[in-house]
Amino acid sequence: MSTSVLVLGAGFGGLELSTRLSKELGDEVDVTLIDRADAFVFGFSKLDVLFGKRGSRAVRIPYEDITTPHVRFRQETITTIDPDARRVVTDLDTYHGDIVVVALGADYDLTATPGLADAGNEFYTLAGAEALRDRVASFHAGTAIVGVCGSPFKCPPAPSEAALLLDEHLRGRGVRDDVRIQVVMPFGVPIPPSPDTSAAILRTFAERGIEFVPDHVVASLDPATNEAVLDDGTRLPSDLFLGVPVHRAPAVAETSGMTDGGWIPVDPQTLATRFPGVYAVGDVTSVGTPKAGMFAEGAARVVADQLIARIRRANEPPGYDGKGACYIEFGGEEVARVDVDFFSTPGHPTGTFVPPSTDTAAEKAGYASSRRARWFGA
Ligand SMILES: Cc1cc2nc3c(=O)[nH]c(=O)nc-3n(C[C@H](O)[C@H](O)[C@H](O)COP(=O)(O)OP(=O)(O)OC[C@H]3O[C@@H](n4cnc5c(N)ncnc54)[C@H](O)[C@@H]3O)c2cc1C
Repeated sequence: MSTSVLVLGAGFGGLELSTRLSKELGDEVDVTLIDRADAFVFGFSKLDVLFGKRGSRAVRIPYEDITTPHVRFRQETITTIDPDARRVVTDLDTYHGDIVVVALGADYDLTATPGLADAGNEFYTLAGAEALRDRVASFHAGTAIVGVCGSPFKCPPAPSEAALLLDEHLRGRGVRDDVRIQVVMPFGVPIPPSPDTSAAILRTFAERGIEFVPDHVVASLDPATNEAVLDDGTRLPSDLFLGVPVHRAPAVAETSGMTDGGWIPVDPQTLATRFPGVYAVGDVTSVGTPKAGMFAEGAARVVADQLIARIRRANEPPGYDGKGACYIEFGGEEVARVDVDFFSTPGHPTGTFVPPSTDTAAEKAGYASSRRARWFGA
């Protein structure tokens, strides 16, 4: 009899897990993959949309394209997770799994930052990036702030990338001299685990006249005065705000009783939750790695390998190593990479910087197309 696996969320984690189980186990497994959305979007595509490089329709990869054998995709909204019973209720059906894997990612709490939702000032949702695109395209003078509103947040390099790409965009339109760009971030440096990466970003900021405001978040926006208000009350003029919203676990994860301190705790080696047969991967967890697609994918591979070993009665596979990479857009068609290792020296993540180049830009494009082919067969 095949093992039934319920995969909740079809992002980086859910797609990799489903694909790997199908490829390795064939009809020994029966995967139901549930997501409320009708299409997958790479997080980094939102920067393409924000700067008008690609339209929002072009970056959507429809889930109806999933052709992976033994994987049944359901476009439904999950309303209840009962981790003790491994039972999941959606707006349309009820499911039970021998195994449940929660890969629901992180949601945004726009209301946590007064003024953020009213003004449509964030680029972390596709709709937000699309709405900001037109404001960016017509912006010609004043102060632009790329501001992080809370921590943790997805893809720590993304605010730096947004600032560098904004600089490039404004130069291309010949209006850069009339715009001040500031980046507000809750860290002392852009990428704390990698001093070399941080130094390269700060050096490039200095060369391009981008100001870095460390150790703060944006607490609110004041539309009456066009100011961003920091967590210590400092007010910064803000004519254009590119915001990173406060993140939180999806409400259904919170009400399931699985979260602790806002996120789902897991065994860092196995990604098992405290509920037998229930795992969690990716942004929804507090595993200790960054909220980034490549890390979600790596964690999903570990869970898949454990399930494969369990079903095949094979030896326990290696645990999660907490390693991953992030690409960083520097503008000028150049991309850098930072390879980060979170677990080898507990409490002291380390990062290795690969400087920006067109070769790494090609590598990033290859990464995206390989995942598209693997997960969607396209
Ligand atoms: C601007 C930006 C740039 C980024 N750049 C990079 C980058 O260069 N490299 C990188 O590695 N990462 C990047 N990321 C981060 C990356 O997109 C996320 O970390 C990654 O998507 C997390 O994967 P996941 O599987 O944990 O969750 P997700 O990919 O977010 O998937 C979770 C899924 O769960 C679904 N879901 C949630 N709640 C429900 C519900 N109640 N019912 C049904 N379905 C539900 C969602 O629709 C979603 O499809 C970037 C993100 C942004 C916003």
